[in-house]
Amino acid sequence: MSETILIIEDEPKVARLARDYLEKNGYRVLVANDGDNGLAMARREKPDLLVLDLMLPGMDGLDVCRALRRESDLPIIMLTARAEETDRLIGLEIGADDYISKPFSPRELVARVRALLRRAKGRVYVSGIIRVGELELNTDNHSVVLAGESIHLTRIEFNLLETMARHPGQIFPRAQLLENLHGVAYIGYDRSIDAHIKNLRRKIEEDPANPKYILTVYAIGYKFSDEHR
Ligand code: CA
Repeated sequence: MSETILIIEDEPKVARLARDYLEKNGYRVLVANDGDNGLAMARREKPDLLVLDLMLPGMDGLDVCRALRRESDLPIIMLTARAEETDRLIGLEIGADDYISKPFSPRELVARVRALLRRAKGRVYVSGIIRVGELELNTDNHSVVLAGESIHLTRIEFNLLETMARHPGQIFPRAQLLENLHGVAYIGYDRSIDAHIKNLRRKIEEDPANPKYILTVYAIGYKFSDEHR
C-alpha cells in the first residue's frame, strides 16, 4: 500500500505542484488549505508524513506542529519562506523533522519526503535498558524513569538523551547532535539543540542550573556525565 502524505498549504498553486509530484512518485496525497482543517485531517487520516506550510490562515503551521507533536511522532516537513529564518529555527525546536524553503523544487520535496520516511521507518533502537544513576531509559518502549517516577520526554528529547547516555563522557558537538536528530546538519542552527537540552534538564535534573547528568562542554556542545557508573 502506498504511503499517505498530508499537505497543509493555503496557496493552491504550491499545494497542487507538491501534490502532483508526490502522486507521480507513487504517494497517496491529501491536501488541506488551512491549519484547523489540516490538524483535523491529520488526526482522522493518520498520514505517514506531513508537509506543513508555516504561514496559514487561522491556526498557523507552528501551532499545528506543536499540537501534533504532543500526540504523535508523525514525520513533519515544514515549508518556510526565505524571510522566515527564525520561524524555521522555532519549527525545528518544536519538533519538525525537516524544512524546505520556498520556492522549492518539487524534485527536492520528493527527495526529502522519501528520505524522511525512510528515516522514520528505519528508526532502529537497540533494545534494552540504559541505567545511569537514578535514571533508567527503556529503549524498547522509549519510557524513562527517574528515581522510580516515570517522566514524559518528547521523541527528540529521548533521542538526545539516549544518544548521550549510551556514551557517558563522550563529547557531542551541537552539530553532531543536530545531525543525529534530523539526518542533516543545518549550518547555523546548532543552537536549536540548546532549547532541547534546556527542556531535558528541566525534566531530569534536580537542579537544571547545576546539572549532574547532561553537562555543557564549553564552546563545543554537551556530554553525559560519566560519574554515575
Ligand atoms: Ca502560506
